[in-house]
Amino acid sequence: MNHAREAKVLIIGSGPAGYTAAVYAARAMLDPILIQGLQPGGQLTITTDVENWPGEDRVLGPDLMARMEHHARAMGAEIVADHVQSLDLSRRPFAALTDGGATILAESVILATGAQAKWLGLPSEARFKGFGVSACATCDGFFFRGKQVIVAGGGNTAVEEALFLTNFAAKVTLVHRRDTLRAEKILQARLFGNPKISVVWDHAIDEVLGTEAPRGVTGVRIRHVRTGETHEVPCHGLFVAIGHAPASELVRGQLETHLGGYVVTKPGSTATAIPGVFAAGDLTDHVYRQAVTSAGMGCMAALEAERFLAEAAGETVPEPLGYGAVVRAV
Ligand code: FAD
Ligand code: NAP
Repeated sequence: MNHAREAKVLIIGSGPAGYTAAVYAARAMLDPILIQGLQPGGQLTITTDVENWPGEDRVLGPDLMARMEHHARAMGAEIVADHVQSLDLSRRPFAALTDGGATILAESVILATGAQAKWLGLPSEARFKGFGVSACATCDGFFFRGKQVIVAGGGNTAVEEALFLTNFAAKVTLVHRRDTLRAEKILQARLFGNPKISVVWDHAIDEVLGTEAPRGVTGVRIRHVRTGETHEVPCHGLFVAIGHAPASELVRGQLETHLGGYVVTKPGSTATAIPGVFAAGDLTDHVYRQAVTSAGMGCMAALEAERFLAEAAGETVPEPLGYGAVVRAV
């Protein structure tokens, strides 16, 4: 049954950006509604240790996100376990339709739909997805106890996946298309110091090899990126960790995107080209893509939504204290 609800602020997404926006919007007495989506807690729920969240030398990703959810609820945000299937930004109030059949009419929207794992795009990768091919070591690593696995990629995710897999696998081979990693130095040091891990440089995954009955991976064919020479590496699993793409499908054709789908916002702001629509976190950020920067943008989005709603209601809103004001004050 379709029942329309009204919201001053609708937040779409439950990663660090969404929950932070919810905390701020709730404290501004805007009664925000947050729709969690198919991955409540976002990307950090598929990792283990997070070591760069300020105030915690080490915290488990799922625990950190559970605490953020608790915090947002405690401040008064309404957290809804549902997924937005369509969003109409052509007029205000904006209309969101959810899988659960709800329609939400929102005076302002904070988009915080984050990013999703990218795939290599090989037909053989698709055939063995869930049968030895995965993009989440935390979710699937356990199935590879005592086995050989390959990790493809050279960023933080690939290195963390490789390190995590050493808890289960007998041998982990990282295959990277260049001869240097883009992962943080501290992670690289751990990778190179781990006797279970070897690195194959300058190679791309050409094909996933396996059997049909039962369906399973038996190896990968890798190709040297310059010579084109190929060879096969036996393994039971392939973990694809080649980065993340912004989840901007909901606003495709409604908001400007760039660099492969990142939503464009005004410089130094989370405002999009549509007044009342704000975007925060990995959805807009092709540079930093960190939990703490996403949370920071969630904060900005809520403060900007608060200001937008006050102006729309005809309230007098003081100018933000900017550089000029600071200079005049001294
Ligand atoms: P996300 O965390 O991507 O959350 C997006 C949310 O949007 C999800 O809740 C999803 O369900 C929801 N959503 C999507 N579409 C819809 C829809 N249509 N309707 C409703 N909801 C929707 N960063 C660090 O700073 N430190 C780390 O140690 C670290 N480790 C990482 C490890 C891994 C394996 C990965 C993949 C990333 C890691 N990152 C880390 C990066 C960090 O997770 C991201 O920068 C951060 O989660 C982005 O937050 P976000 O709120 O923008 O979006
Ligand atoms: P990333 O930093 O974009 O790295 C992607 C890696 O995959 C790169 O090494 C890239 O190679 C490679 N790659 C991309 N497309 C490929 C293809 N088609 N075939 C083969 N290789 C391909 O992505 P990420 O590692 O997922 O990280 C995403 C963001 O989350 C980053 O900002 C990262 O800092 C953050 N994150 C942080 C932590 C942490 O703080 N501990 C942990 C995980 C993720 P090139 O190097 O040649 O481009």
